[in-house]
Amino acid sequence: MSSSSFASSSSSSSSSSSSNSLAAYGWDADWEAEFAPYAAQGLVPGRVVRVDRGQCDVITAAGTIRADTEYVTPRDPLKVLCTGDWAAVDPDGDPRFVRDYLTRRTSFVRSTSSKRSEGQILAANVDHAIIAVSLAAELDLGRVERFLALGWESGAQPVVVLTKSDLVPDPVTLGHLVQDVETTAPGVPVLALSAETGDGVEVLAAVVGGGTSVLLGQSGAGKSTLANALIGDDVMGVQAIRDVDGKGRHTTTTRNLLVLPGGGVLIDTPGLRGVGLWDAETGVGQVFAEIEELAADCRFHDCAHESEPGCAVRAALEDGTLPERRLESYRKLLRENQRIVAKTDARLRAELRREWRLKGAEGKAAMEAKRGRWR
Ligand code: GDP
Ligand code: ZN
Repeated sequence: MSSSSFASSSSSSSSSSSSNSLAAYGWDADWEAEFAPYAAQGLVPGRVVRVDRGQCDVITAAGTIRADTEYVTPRDPLKVLCTGDWAAVDPDGDPRFVRDYLTRRTSFVRSTSSKRSEGQILAANVDHAIIAVSLAAELDLGRVERFLALGWESGAQPVVVLTKSDLVPDPVTLGHLVQDVETTAPGVPVLALSAETGDGVEVLAAVVGGGTSVLLGQSGAGKSTLANALIGDDVMGVQAIRDVDGKGRHTTTTRNLLVLPGGGVLIDTPGLRGVGLWDAETGVGQVFAEIEELAADCRFHDCAHESEPGCAVRAALEDGTLPERRLESYRKLLRENQRIVAKTDARLRAELRREWRLKGAEGKAAMEAKRGRWR
């Protein structure tokens, strides 16, 4: 297909046909309304599959196109274009440009492992954070809580999936394991399944059917196997990619973002899988909602729940309504988060100092130039 036929088809097909074909990718009436100003400028909407080296793949109503990201690569690493964004793209041109993207409903951010801690945006507009936890190993509730914090922080709804349930044949034992996780994860659906036998997979398929999902979890938790089970045999790679560049076939092996046969979109970028926390204080608070609720009843609003009088959290520990492990885990995640924030602050301070120095030098140079003129 040539770029000119793409242009004419996009201009003749108004918003309704684009919403039809993009609906499978999550396009809805709200996105459409937000996009109106861009449509008025003649731009077309598309969902970003992947971003690399100044370019990105965007799925539009007319197929997948390659576009330049120059306009959506600001210095703030959290504001650069990423997988899952809804982009406003030039319908034509060589190269085409992503001009802007719609305000994100949710965003997954991770801390970069380097010393200069800063956030990195991994995925946008995710509705469900599927946290895979293997039943092949002993349940590590602390780890579940950490992934939950990350999920809540993103704005997505976390769902815990206990994988490899075929390895726990006793239904009573399995029920207890599910219950343990449910207690740890208030407000979070917990389901057990086996990709091996297929048990429970259709329940997950129904959950992910309504929106965009990501798979999180430790290596070995069964994420790839689960992704394959959801994707099915018939769909591999990016099935919907068509060449509309008019520059030969655009082949790619990416499966960063794809439509599932049972509905819904799966974002499965390699970087997302084992993500670390990044300034997830709100998320941590949501994981431990019951502790924050208790803390609201402490006599002192800055109570550390150590030895202060009138501490509602200690009272709950003493009467057994709050497990000690829970409070310890809460503190551990808060500490971890504070370390990350402190590192980030240190980096920001250093950056500001650099800028002041530069400004100082500029100021001096300007003064000298002025003096020079006056002489
Ligand atoms: P990932 O690292 O999270 O992507 O995990 P994988 O999907 O690669 O799975 C890790 C291991 O667990 C592999 O050896 C899988 O064969 C195994 N596995 C995955 N799902 C199941 C399951 O439902 N039952 C059993 N018994 N093993 C599974
Ligand atoms: Zn207290």
